[in-house]
Amino acid sequence: MKLTASSIRDEIIKGNMDIEDYILGKLELIRKNDKKINAFISIDSEGFLRERARNIKMGIRSGKKPMLAGIAISIKDVISTSFLPTTAGSKILEGYIPPFNATVVEKILKEGGIVIGKTNLDEFAMGSTTEFSAYGPTRNPWDLERVAGGSSGGSAASLSYGAADLSLGSDTGGSARLPASYTCTFGLKPTYGLVSRYGLIPYANSLEQISPMARSMEDLALLLKVIKGYDEKDATSIPRAEEKSYEKFKVCVIEDLVRDSDRPIKSSLYNLLYKLELEGIETEYRERLDYINYALPVYYTIAFAEASSNLARYDGKLYGKMGNSETYKKASIDTRKSNLGLEVRKRILMGVLTLSEGFKNEYYIAATKGRRLIRDEILKVTKDCILVSPVSPILPPRIGEKIDDPLKLYAMDVYTVIANLAGIPALALPSSFYNGLPIGVQFMGKPFSESSLIRLGLIIEKITGISGVIAGG
Ligand code: GLN
Repeated sequence: MKLTASSIRDEIIKGNMDIEDYILGKLELIRKNDKKINAFISIDSEGFLRERARNIKMGIRSGKKPMLAGIAISIKDVISTSFLPTTAGSKILEGYIPPFNATVVEKILKEGGIVIGKTNLDEFAMGSTTEFSAYGPTRNPWDLERVAGGSSGGSAASLSYGAADLSLGSDTGGSARLPASYTCTFGLKPTYGLVSRYGLIPYANSLEQISPMARSMEDLALLLKVIKGYDEKDATSIPRAEEKSYEKFKVCVIEDLVRDSDRPIKSSLYNLLYKLELEGIETEYRERLDYINYALPVYYTIAFAEASSNLARYDGKLYGKMGNSETYKKASIDTRKSNLGLEVRKRILMGVLTLSEGFKNEYYIAATKGRRLIRDEILKVTKDCILVSPVSPILPPRIGEKIDDPLKLYAMDVYTVIANLAGIPALALPSSFYNGLPIGVQFMGKPFSESSLIRLGLIIEKITGISGVIAGG
C-alpha cells in the first residue's frame, strides 16, 4: 500500500486499519525524530488524540464515511485552533490559545481529520527558510544540514518524514510551494478568495491563501476539496466560485522565468518538458515578460506595508504580554522590542516607511501600480496556457547560509511571488532529485483553474514516478 492519505483513509473506512494504532504510530515517529527535525511547535496529547480517534471510529461504525476519516493532519501554527496554542512562530504569542477555530480547521474536523499538532514556521510567516522562527529552525528530512524551506517549513517537513499525512500551510509569496519543492512534497496556492482566510493570522492579506500540502497529487486534491468554498466570515471569500478549466493543455515556458536558475534546476525543468512533449502535451517557448523584473520589489513593498499595519495589534494590550513601564507607549515598545524577532521588526519599519507621507507615492503607490501591470500581463498569458517554471532558482540551502543576506534570501521567491501578486492558482510538485536533494516544478494557471492544474499534476506525477515518498524511506 502506498503511504498516501487517500489510501489510508480508504483502509480505515473499510475497517482494515485501526485509527488509534495509526495515530499512536505517528506519535511514536514524532517522539523519535522531531527533536532533530523540529517540524512541530506543539503536539496534541495522546489522551485527547485517542479520544478523538475513538469518536471517529464510532461514527464510521454507525455508517459515516468522512472524507478525511482518521487522517493525521499537521497545521501551520499561523492558523487558529481553539484546542492547541497558536504562536505564529513568535515569542509574542507564546501560549496564546485562540477562542475559535479557523474555518478551514472546522472543515477538517467535520470531515474526521485528526489534527496531530501545529507546525513550525518563520515568525508571522515572514521568511523562506523557517530559520526566523522563535522556536528554532526546521531541518530538512532529506539532509539535516539544510533548510526545509519556508515559511511553511514545519508543515513540509512533517509530511516528508511521515509524521503527518496531510498538512495545511499558508502562502503569501511562496510559503507553501517553496518548502514543498525542498522536501519532495506537493503544495498548492489556491486562487485568491477560493479558501477562507478566517482564522489565519494575517501577514499580508491581499496576497495570502491557506494552502493544502501533501505527499501526492490525489491527497492534495482531497484536502483542497475539503477546505475550499465561500465563507461569509471572510470578506474576500468568493461566493459561487466557478471552475474555469482549460479545454486542452498547453504548457508555456518563458525564458525570463528560468534564466537565473542554477544548472540542476534548469535541466530538471527542461527534462520534464521534454517528457511532457513525448506525452503529446503541447509546449510553447517564449523569451520574455515585460514586467516580471518588478515582481520581487513590488511583492516585498506591498507585503511589508500590509504587515506593518497587521502587526500593530501586538502591543502588549490587545495581544502579547504587557511590559512594566509606566506609560502605554513605553510598555508597548518594550513588549515589541523584546518579543518580536529582528526580521519582523525590520519589515514593520520598512512597511511604515513606505506608507508614510513623503514616501508613499514613491514606494507603496508605485508598487500597487506595478502589481496591476504584472497581474494584467500574467492574466493575459495564462488565458490559454499554463505557465511552468522552477519553484526556486536554487537547491535547498544549508542552515545559516542565507540568513544574513536578505537580498539573497528574498531572491529565492522570484518565481513564486508572481502567483500571489496576480491572485492565480499555482501548484508545486516534485520533478526530480539532484545529489539526493529534491527539486520541484511549478505550474501557474488562470484564476479558478485548480482542476486543470490537478489533472496536469496527476500526469506529471506519473511521468516522474515521484509520489508518496518519505525521506529516507
Ligand atoms: N518568503 C516570502 C516572504 O517572506 C513569502 C512568505 C510567505 O509566503 N508567507 O514574504
